[in-house]
Amino acid sequence: MREANRIGALILDAMGEAVASGVPTMRFEEIAQDMCRDFKVRPAFQGYYGFPYALCCSVNEEVVHGFPSPRRILREGDIVSFDFGVIFEGFFGDCARTYGVGAISPEAEKLMRVTRESLMLGIEQARAGNTLNDVSGAIQRHAEGHGYAVIRRFVGHGIGRSLHEKPEIPNFVPALASAALPLKAGMVLAIEPMLAIGTHEVDILADNWTAVTRDRSLSAHFEHSVAITPQGPDILSLL
Ligand code: MG
Repeated sequence: MREANRIGALILDAMGEAVASGVPTMRFEEIAQDMCRDFKVRPAFQGYYGFPYALCCSVNEEVVHGFPSPRRILREGDIVSFDFGVIFEGFFGDCARTYGVGAISPEAEKLMRVTRESLMLGIEQARAGNTLNDVSGAIQRHAEGHGYAVIRRFVGHGIGRSLHEKPEIPNFVPALASAALPLKAGMVLAIEPMLAIGTHEVDILADNWTAVTRDRSLSAHFEHSVAITPQGPDILSLL
């Protein structure tokens, strides 16, 4: 899983370097496919419940699960989220980042920063002896403390020999007893806050995949796959 996540992070790095005004979002799908071939790994998302691409590419008000497209051209000021995973020798990696295109607004910059900080604060709580609520609560407190909405429809997840394993990892504390699940060394969690400037409610577009904020406000997404070790959280998708 360390290798799956290392490769996934390297590919996200390459996509980040290619982000620029005038680039069609299909370019990032090509980078993903080409690099998977070079590393001899399979993209984890392609074919998953019929998802047609290797990469989820979501621009501005798109929250997650957007399709790369030759017609969607990045423009200065956009923010673009890449969610990407690979399978290496039967094990999955999963990570996501949001990049700004050229100069972006202070509002977009802050949304991205707070989303990244929320992820890191959640990861800090991914320790044996804590519960899942500690992770979810740390994310929610930081996000809502800055006035942002936590997307509720999509959540993080355990990861291993499958892309999505138990437990679900909401980015808010739900009113469910199961959410107080104790965390143990040996668990690997894909923690992935998605925040929006406006409402937490989402619509799904006619392609049946792309999730957008209902009020079309900007949304950002950061994700790491994190192993809980006796020494604390070990971020597998950090280079
Ligand atoms: Mg994930």
